[in-house]
Amino acid sequence: MNRLIVVSNRLPFALDSTGEDLWTVTPAAGGLVSAVEPVLRERGGIWIGWPGIAGNIPKRPFAEATRDAGYKVVPVALSETERDEFYYGYSNEVIWPLFHDLQNFCSFDPAFWETYKTVNVRYADAIADCAHADDFIWVHDYHLMYAGQALRERSVRAALTFFLHIPFPPYDIFSKLPQQQRLLRALLQFDFLGFQTRRDLRNFVGCVRRVMMEAKAVARRDLQLVRFEKREIRLGHFPIGIDFDSFEKGATSEVVVQRSQQLRANFPGCQLVLGVDRLDYSKGIPERLRAYRDALERHPELRGRVVLIQVVVPSRVEIPRYHEFKQRIDRLVGDINGRFSTSNWLPVQYHFRSLGREDLLAHYRGCDIAFVTPLKDGMNLVAKEYCACRIDENGVLILSHFAGAAEQLKTGALLVNPYDVEEVADTILKAFRMTDADRTARMKRMRRVVREENVFRWVDSFLSAGSQLARRVPSRQRNLRRRIPSM
Ligand code: UDP
Repeated sequence: MNRLIVVSNRLPFALDSTGEDLWTVTPAAGGLVSAVEPVLRERGGIWIGWPGIAGNIPKRPFAEATRDAGYKVVPVALSETERDEFYYGYSNEVIWPLFHDLQNFCSFDPAFWETYKTVNVRYADAIADCAHADDFIWVHDYHLMYAGQALRERSVRAALTFFLHIPFPPYDIFSKLPQQQRLLRALLQFDFLGFQTRRDLRNFVGCVRRVMMEAKAVARRDLQLVRFEKREIRLGHFPIGIDFDSFEKGATSEVVVQRSQQLRANFPGCQLVLGVDRLDYSKGIPERLRAYRDALERHPELRGRVVLIQVVVPSRVEIPRYHEFKQRIDRLVGDINGRFSTSNWLPVQYHFRSLGREDLLAHYRGCDIAFVTPLKDGMNLVAKEYCACRIDENGVLILSHFAGAAEQLKTGALLVNPYDVEEVADTILKAFRMTDADRTARMKRMRRVVREENVFRWVDSFLSAGSQLARRVPSRQRNLRRRIPSM
């Protein structure tokens, strides 16, 4: 087995300063980390990324804190300007909104692209410094799409693979990007590209066909193929999963059971509807609140009998648009509560903070309906985590067509168009009225998919598809030492 080099914007260790020369290094948890770390330990490997703090990285405390990780941890440093222009700028004010089909939210500042390239080149240098020819390099996500090109320019001979965690937009939207050709060319320097869904893969191939005249896409039964600059690039879709067993087990713990019972006891006679999202305009929170308001207006039987618990986790508040967006949510919650509340019923319980794991699981266990209506989402793990925690095989999932998870969960979820306020409102009523038998049948189907297509299987299928490719890539192609002109 070849060594694995994982590269992501953030490392699974967060560095923080607690005063002059005082540092803390905190390991991060989460599905991706828990699935990838065992592979790194088993095969031997390296994780390269940014530890989350701008400026120089204090070498000793960082090395000490990561010494026992079981794999090598290589931090990449970013200055404050680089963090602002690469991370907040190009990644989160250009690519993030555009790839979520929200082009009006983009700030196409040319300086952002220059810094994006500079930072990607720095990541590529860190990779090139430690990569051997038979390594398997796995680059993650939209922050690092240019890294493939920088790696080719450095004649790195290892297998170069990339997975995009967010959606890939259709051509009519992608073509708004000033750097459309440069970005596709950079992505086509990888040997293997993975996407979340069939739709994302189709969109990518559509863009390649329209923008890269010299590339040729060939449909294959297993993996799609693109021929470009005398190389063959393989593409596939690999929907990311969750660590099902850990959620299921967590949901049966005594403290979670107690807290979920307490939650239910707070709202006697009501069905609880749960929304859990990062503060992000792609999550469709205002549209969801408007649909809930419409449901209360048009379906009086819901009044006093449902409560929406909306958790909004603070995120990217440094970007002004996120701040304005929060104010819109605050106003809508105030409007709904002001209009419909009674002396003993408040229609929206609103929390602007993150929940600890036990509280989150207690909410999944305790709420009758999950309300997951992003305008667009790469996958949406909350939808899957909700199913994993429903060990009673009850609970209804209202899910946006435009979440990646819809492809896998469509046989059990109530799918909605999040822009269609009336349809979503009527779906709340449908969920509210759904019989236990129907709830159980649907939840069973969804739990089966979430259990089987879990995050460990995702890692395995990506790595095994990529490894087959590494064997297939002719040595002539892997040894190619051609310099590709910089854009
Ligand atoms: N989450 C959390 N604490 C909270 C709310 C959510 O840790 O208070 C986690 C949740 O368990 C999930 C992730 O945040 O794993 C959200 O992932 P998702 O794919 O739904 O959306 P993203 O935020 O990545 O766009």
